[in-house]
Order: sequence, then structure tokens, then C-alpha cells
Amino acid sequence: MRILVAGGAGFIGSHLCDRLLAEDHQVLAVDNFLTGRAENLHHLRSNPGFDFLEHDVCEPLKIAGPVDFVCNLASPASPVDYLTHPVATLMVGSVGTKNLLDLARQNDAGFLLTSTSECYGDPLEHPQKESYWGNVNPIGPRSCYDEAKRFAEAVTMAYHREYKLNTHIARIFNTYGPRMKLRDGRVVPAFLDQVLSGRLLTVFGSGSQTRSFCFVSDLVDGLFRLMWSEDHLPVNIGNPSEMTILQFAELIQAKLGIEESITFKPLPEDDPKQRQPDITKAREILGWEPKVSLDIGLTDTIEYFRAQELAPPVSPT
Ligand code: NAD
Ligand code: UDP
Repeated sequence: MRILVAGGAGFIGSHLCDRLLAEDHQVLAVDNFLTGRAENLHHLRSNPGFDFLEHDVCEPLKIAGPVDFVCNLASPASPVDYLTHPVATLMVGSVGTKNLLDLARQNDAGFLLTSTSECYGDPLEHPQKESYWGNVNPIGPRSCYDEAKRFAEAVTMAYHREYKLNTHIARIFNTYGPRMKLRDGRVVPAFLDQVLSGRLLTVFGSGSQTRSFCFVSDLVDGLFRLMWSEDHLPVNIGNPSEMTILQFAELIQAKLGIEESITFKPLPEDDPKQRQPDITKAREILGWEPKVSLDIGLTDTIEYFRAQELAPPVSPT
């Protein structure tokens, strides 16, 4: 198949490109580098199955040749990134998603939307099942991301219902691994950057808020299985092992052998107090669950960041 990956130069998108190429598909990655990086795809530049198009998906796409599947990962994903680009985030979730759905429809292609646990907002139901409608502030600072993704889910379901498009929706929970930007503000790179450069770990609030961290290879395996499934309603993809952010900071300290290095900063507005996926549906319909332990995933990620700090910058693809 020839598969278009929008957001292919991003953290998860670049790993999805690797996986699709490893499964003998042809990949066309599309990205405007708003938050992604050419170096995430640099290793694929001489792969005959791989192609790249620099393009903003908010503009309609004219793609030469057939497209059999469209994967939509294009969107800022880190709170720091989407708070910096709130309008671009709303536009790519709405106009960008519609343009990619139109492309899928013109080609009678399959479609995968990477949605988010942020659709549940600051959840009042715990853990979160797909049937939960969420508790989202529609005008708060995070609304540019949450409402863009809720619109993206709605328009994807509308294309499925009205045009019978073969669509799939993944609700991704916190994912980490190599190719995250060291300074994108998300908690895993933030804590690792702080430890590796000898600074204090910044825990926001009291650190009692919870998250569950999924390693990127597990996440991509879940997306890959969902692409070929018969299911059209949202499916949670994430790791259910939940911990507080303070516990996570202590775990990083213990793993890197440092002590007494935490400083507390104010909790950002609307920061969800708890988050844990119920992955019963993914287990049942995809036969999927995460396999990589936090310890092994963090070891890989730390190695990547250490190498990044030593490596010279890479020229564009
Ligand atoms: P990322 O920022 O690394 O990747 C997103 C990519 O989309 C970037 O390469 C960016 O340049 C590109 N992009 C943004 N706007 C675009 C536009 N208008 N046209 C073309 N390309 C555009 O983020 P990520 O962590 O890899 O996230 C990928 C997807 O997964 C996003 O849709 C995100 O919402 C979703 N997601 C990620 C997580 C996570 O923990 N990483 C959690 C939930 C959902
Ligand atoms: N966080 C933190 N210190 C940091 C960065 C993040 O304590 O330097 C907290 C943040 O307040 C949130 C959690 O870690 O409660 C996860 O934040 P992240 O930005 O990774 O993603 P989110 O789950 O909020 O989308």
C-alpha cells in the first residue's frame, strides 16, 4: 500500500513511518515542520519506499499517484507547543483533518486519526473508558488542543457515517521515547533534560496529579493494529500503569542516581488531576497491550538524549 503520514516529521509520526516501511508499505510523509524536525526522517532519505512532501495540511492536498491509506498525526501535541500556536492547533485539527479526510475520500482510502486523552479533559470518571464524554473547559488555555481534537473526532465520524469512509480513531495517552524534543516541555523530556544538565526537576503543583506513560514502539504497534481493524469508534491506546508526577520525579532521580533535586512550580491552569486509560477495548478488539517496561523505555530515551547532546546538527531531508 502507499500510505500518507501527515505529521510524519514529528515524534510519533516518524516512528510510524519506520514501522510502515518495515511492513513493506510505501510511505509519503507530509509535514510543515511546525513542531517536527527533518532529522527525525533523516535516516529514511535513501529508502526507495519513502518520500517526503513539505506542506501545510490546512491547504488542500494534491498528491500525484494513488493513496491507499491516510494517517493523520499532524498537530502540535506538547502543551508548550500548542499554547505557543493555539490558532495553528485549532486550524490543523479542524481544516487540516477535513482536508485529509477529503483526500482519503477522493482515493477511497482508509483513514486513521490520532486523537488524544485530552478529549476527556480533567476527567471525573477514572480510569477513562471510551464511552466517557469528558470534562473539557471549552475556553481555557488547553481548549485550542482539546476542542480541535474533539472536532477532528466529530468530522471523522461524520465522514464515516455520511460517506462510508473506512475511518479509525485512536485516543492516545501520554507517550514518550526517542525523537521527542529535549525542550518540548513534556514531562519526560523536561525531567531528563533537567537531570542531564544538572538542574532541579520542576514538579508542577504538589505533584499529586497522575499520568501513565506508554513507550513509543508499543503505541505505534497499537496504531498499526487499529489501522486494519473493523472498528470505527474511538479506541484508547496507552499504558494503564498510573503514577503521580512526584513518584515519576523520584523514579527518575533513583534511576539516574541523584538526590534532593526537586523544585515545585505552580500547576498550569486546567492541568488534568488524574489520567489513566482503560484499555479493555484495545485488548479485546486489537489483541494489544503495552509490553515495554518504564525502566527499559526510559533507558532507551536517556541514551537517545545523551547522543543528541553530543551529535552535530543534521541538514534538512
Ligand atoms: P509532534 O509535535 O512531534 O508531531 C506533530 C507533527 O505534526 C510535527 O512534525 C508538526 O510539524 C506536524 N504538523 C503540525 N501542524 C501541521 C500542519 N498544519 N501541516 C503539516 N504538518 C503539521 O507531536 P507527537 O507527539 O508526535 O504527536 C503526534 C500526534 O499524536 C498528534 O496529533 C498528537 O495530538 C497525538 N498525540 C500525541 C500524544 C503524545 O503523548 N505524544 C498524546 C496524545 C495524542
Ligand atoms: N509537569 C511537571 N513538570 C514539568 C512538565 C510537566 O510537573 O516540567 C507535569 C504537568 O503539570 C502534567 C504532567 O507533568 O501534570 C504531564 O505533563 P505533559 O506536559 O507531559 O503532558 P500532559 O499530560 O499535561 O498533556
